[in-house]
Amino acid sequence: MVTGRFAPTPSGRLHLGNMLCAMLAWLSVRSQNGRFLLRIEDVDRPRCPDRLAEQCIRDLQWLGFDWDEAPVYQHERTAAYEEALQRLTAAGLTYPCFCTRAELHPEQAPNLGDTQAVYPGTCARLTPAEIALRSRQRSPAIRLRVPDRTVAFTDRLQGRVEENLARDCGDFVLRRSDGLFGYQLAVVADDAASGVNEVVRGRDILSATPRQIYLLELLGHPAPAYVHIPLLTDPLGRRLAKRDRDLDLDALARRMGPREIIGLLACACGLRDRVAPASLEELVPDFSWARIPAEDLRLPAF
Ligand code: GLU
Repeated sequence: MVTGRFAPTPSGRLHLGNMLCAMLAWLSVRSQNGRFLLRIEDVDRPRCPDRLAEQCIRDLQWLGFDWDEAPVYQHERTAAYEEALQRLTAAGLTYPCFCTRAELHPEQAPNLGDTQAVYPGTCARLTPAEIALRSRQRSPAIRLRVPDRTVAFTDRLQGRVEENLARDCGDFVLRRSDGLFGYQLAVVADDAASGVNEVVRGRDILSATPRQIYLLELLGHPAPAYVHIPLLTDPLGRRLAKRDRDLDLDALARRMGPREIIGLLACACGLRDRVAPASLEELVPDFSWARIPAEDLRLPAF
């Protein structure tokens, strides 16, 4: 049986891009009579207060979404992340990193674009004495040591994706120096614990996937099927961003109902050929991944 999920980070109000992701994840599961889960990714607690998480759940219900189990909250899953981290550490795969943000990104510039900064390995070979000395000055982040190995997978929409862990991604953070667990570890531990075998999410996360597949392997879990969906652009072809407040649900709900919003998204992603109100249920019979393009989707004028 397919188990899919929607995993929003409630650091603001839901945005059209999140809603498209929720819609496609839900439709894929419902069209296969699978199990659909909701996970609130509030691992970064300071940025994701309860108020926003509860608002997110109300918004999803207003749009017509349902899920088959009680929502999982990442802030309640710390013990599971700790256990995964301990296993990796016991296997000798982690090390403490004392680099500050300023040291890591001295010249982080706008032209960094989509590429991720590869950690240069500054703290990878500290001696126990150096670690003891530095630990007295500041608490370290914990990184996973990655091998010079290529991880490949086939994404349902984006096709074959390959990444060399050492060259393209570098040793990455499992726990931040402030004690909060990193996104990669949390996602992997949660998807594995809930038996998720289909991950639908934005194409902006595509480059994190090889890292997650590697982590899953280290922790002894199979990789799910991945579908990285295209990003939305406005009617002029400009990528939507969280800063476009007029496209979050706070603003949209003032002028549109749930059927109008779902109908707009169904047209943007190719499930309907014109903008007309629709419910999620009504879209189930029409749903097929073969109808969803891989490239950016332009919102129709509305
Ligand atoms: N929490 C992430 C987001 O809101 C999604 C993570 C995932 O689906 O794996 O962008």
